[in-house]
Amino acid sequence: MNYGFETLAIHAGQEPDPRTGAVVPPIYATSTYAQDAVGSPRLGYEYSRSGNPTRDALQECLAALEGGRRALAFASGLAAEDTLLRAVCRPGDHVVIPDDAYGGTFRLFAKVAERWGLTWTAAHMSDVDAVRAAMTGRTRVIWTETPTNPLLGIADISALAGLAHEHDAILVVDNTFASPYLQQPIALGADVVVHSTTKYIGGHSDVVGGALVFADAALAEPVAFHQNAMGGVDGPFDAWLTLRGVRTLGVRMDRHCDNAERVAEYLTRHRAVATVLYPGLSDHPGHEIAAKQMRRFGGMVSFRAAGGEQHAIEICNRARLFVLAESLGGVESLIEHPGRMTHASAAGSPLEVPADLVRLSVGIETVDDLLADLEQALA
Ligand SMILES: *Cc1c(COP(=O)(O)O)cnc(C)c1O
Repeated sequence: MNYGFETLAIHAGQEPDPRTGAVVPPIYATSTYAQDAVGSPRLGYEYSRSGNPTRDALQECLAALEGGRRALAFASGLAAEDTLLRAVCRPGDHVVIPDDAYGGTFRLFAKVAERWGLTWTAAHMSDVDAVRAAMTGRTRVIWTETPTNPLLGIADISALAGLAHEHDAILVVDNTFASPYLQQPIALGADVVVHSTTKYIGGHSDVVGGALVFADAALAEPVAFHQNAMGGVDGPFDAWLTLRGVRTLGVRMDRHCDNAERVAEYLTRHRAVATVLYPGLSDHPGHEIAAKQMRRFGGMVSFRAAGGEQHAIEICNRARLFVLAESLGGVESLIEHPGRMTHASAAGSPLEVPADLVRLSVGIETVDDLLADLEQALA
């Protein structure tokens, strides 16, 4: 289909139901499927771990939105990541990971994949030479997030894709912060896109899920085998909710960006704020690359409190409209202290985050109300 993004979000994988005409894909709440004869499942569906039409609808939509050949939907972003690693790596292989990855991703590498025999090096992904230096003869994957969680670092996707391919490795891009509306890593050379669909894709903080999107159907094949063999699939109710959310991704993201730009600009002028981390600011070190590879700069803004850790915690505690909570990407604004909350598992590691850091997921409320809440929280 040669349709635009918003059209694909509403129609890809979502043809009206052929039997009833239902405009919205039904929730196929079934574990199993009647077969016409032994070994002849109708339409190929046998068992819902192996395949489910509601999950398929979501997978088709996500593949279209990322410009990939195939997508697989999982029970969470981390289930997607784990399944991908087991499918593409062998014990003894090496992975380069970002030095400011999402805390849960870091924990997966350091506490789970490492025990399984994977080795890893954390590198500063905005520095391609540092990534090259971190590679070994057994590097199978360069894993990047851009923008990163929670420091909003920017990595040059096409440069990293070139580096990975020079060394017969693959480039995996966690596109959770940008969403496919703002950034399409496959068009820039990435092999696999990872999503926590819990965040902007679902968009309403009412469901946990994950997805992988593949540039190449051949790479998707072993991962699809592992999805079924390991079993971390997205359930039909969750897939349906995620699909309901993704239809409005474009309009939501535009408002997230409008509001985040206003919030970032407001924070840069506030005395209680030492530094604002937002790739849309012209003094952000990744601004030019972000401007090249992203449509806009996203809804996430982090900042460092002028008064240190205690001050950062007080700001979080004083916010009212910004709800104090983990996660991000929903319509409602959230505030959190990464050092004590989302990224506590990275304490003492190369991925430890600054103690004075505050992370905002800027929602789509009336922006003046958000600014007023920050004003009282920062006072
Ligand atoms: C939340 C998050 C994940 C993990 O996804 P879950 O759905 O929570 O398992 C991975 N990467 C990023 C950037 C995230 O923000």
